[in-house]
Amino acid sequence: MPSATPAGSDPAAGKAWAERIKELAEQRNAVILAHNYQIPEIQDVAHYTGDSLALSRKAAETDANIIVFCGVHFMAESAKILSPNKKVLIPDERAGCSLADSITADELRAWKAEHPDALVVSYVNTTAEVKALTDVCCTSSNAVDVVNSLPADKEILFCPDQFLGAYVKRETGRENIYIWAGECHVHAGISAQQLTQQTQDNPDADLYIHPECGCSNSALYLANEDLVPQERVHMLSTGQMITQSQKQPQNKVLVATETGMLHQLRQAAPDVDFQAVNDHAECKYMKMITPQALEHCLMEETDEVTVPENIANAARKSLEAMISIGNPGGGGE
Ligand code: SF4
Repeated sequence: MPSATPAGSDPAAGKAWAERIKELAEQRNAVILAHNYQIPEIQDVAHYTGDSLALSRKAAETDANIIVFCGVHFMAESAKILSPNKKVLIPDERAGCSLADSITADELRAWKAEHPDALVVSYVNTTAEVKALTDVCCTSSNAVDVVNSLPADKEILFCPDQFLGAYVKRETGRENIYIWAGECHVHAGISAQQLTQQTQDNPDADLYIHPECGCSNSALYLANEDLVPQERVHMLSTGQMITQSQKQPQNKVLVATETGMLHQLRQAAPDVDFQAVNDHAECKYMKMITPQALEHCLMEETDEVTVPENIANAARKSLEAMISIGNPGGGGE
């Protein structure tokens, strides 16, 4: 395991680490992809930073022999599903996801058995096995379009995120949609009380809300009650947050998602004051991808991510069904 620590108080060590990472990536012909929730050092050294779907697309397009996915395990799996002939590595295979873990393939099988005619719509934050049992995947930016595209008389099983599901149900006005009670511990931890307090303390600020957040219902309530002008409440995936930031009229924005997002937003729109709704909204799994783990991953070509062929083929169909319905946009988390 590499010994040097790159970041923190020693800029020279940080620079030397970044040089070593770039050199190793070149020697291995590897492309480094980093999710928006990664620590700043990893985001800055990566070839591409973005949301999970945008990164999977980069993975599918690349000429590199090796894809190093700095994110959580289901994201690296999606990259492998879309690029089956590439070697996909994750710097720490223990980097899971509480939302993806909130439904297992066995649980989904049992739920389907109770609703044999229903169609399954799964958010991309799911394991490959769950995707393989899914009819259409969705991202937070196209979930409403995906559900609207399905026959009105068909029951829908929506999993795993209850907050995104509630948002989709409200937006589509659809009654025959059943929602799995899963959640991400980070997003659920951003509460309505925090949001209300922050909007009262910052009456001129815009709000960027990820629809997985526990506070997303209260954000819509605040807007509907005219407590915050509707035009200042933006329900956005992380990719859409970057796009919105570049045309941002207000000089202060409250951001309700994982705090790693602030780094990209501040780079994209340096004149805007971005503040977290909850400073403690950190994903411990995302933060398992440390600078040392990335260096070790490049040196040893571990941890490799594999998906059995039959599962990958079925999972790919549900991802491709999503893409055929419409532009997934800046998708996923
Ligand atoms: S922030 Fe939540 S949904 Fe995202 S990777 Fe972490 S646990 Fe999963």
